[in-house]
Amino acid sequence: MQAELRKAALAIQASRKLLVLTGAGLSREAGLPTFRDAQGLWRKHRPEDLASPEAFARNPALVWEWYRLRMEAARAAMPHAGHQALAALALRKGESMLVLNQNVDGLLERAYGDSGATGHGLLALHGSLDRAHCQRCGNGCAAEQIGAEAVPLCPCGGRLRPSVVWFGESLSALHVECMDSWARQADLLLAVGTSAVVWPAAGLLPMARRRSVPVVVVNPRPEGVESGDLWIAEGAMRALPALVEEA
Ligand SMILES: [Zn+2]
Repeated sequence: MQAELRKAALAIQASRKLLVLTGAGLSREAGLPTFRDAQGLWRKHRPEDLASPEAFARNPALVWEWYRLRMEAARAAMPHAGHQALAALALRKGESMLVLNQNVDGLLERAYGDSGATGHGLLALHGSLDRAHCQRCGNGCAAEQIGAEAVPLCPCGGRLRPSVVWFGESLSALHVECMDSWARQADLLLAVGTSAVVWPAAGLLPMARRRSVPVVVVNPRPEGVESGDLWIAEGAMRALPALVEEA
């Protein structure tokens, strides 16, 4: 582990185009259950039945009940040392680093804010639980401004929906363009807490390997790890501070 960590730290230090991909593992360590480990009553629902345009059309009140819980949990959670280490690294690397964040809890964004890294390359690929927008007119609002109705409405009368990317929806075209451009030019890929079975992670890791770009994987489990990768078999909370300090 120590040898891998040192190698990875050196690679990070030397990188001029560092692409970072963050996944559910980062949030899980902050105490936020992911879809796949939903609790209690929610266990009987498939994620697709709570987070898709069809689900929202069928039962918007149910979808909102689920999202309000997730919004509250995200607000109550705190960024941990792994989030803070990424923010510190972003400050140091400036324009030579981009994070593709697959989490919607806003914790990494908050860590960036706390450390003065806001504005450094960070894309919330799947949107954010901090916001909602109107299905009819597109106007957005902050989560704390959402009314208490079972299905909150926009002043225009349209339904508000959480500003997250649902199953069956596309990522923002701007994000995809930026991601593609970085994927073609990155000289190092750091994958943190992502199972790498779902797109875009599923595409980015093989692409990096095809281009002979080193891949560093931070994950206690060997998910998505292939021979030749630098695998740090720890959670982000422990691994990232050590990695960033060493780099
Ligand atoms: Zn509206």
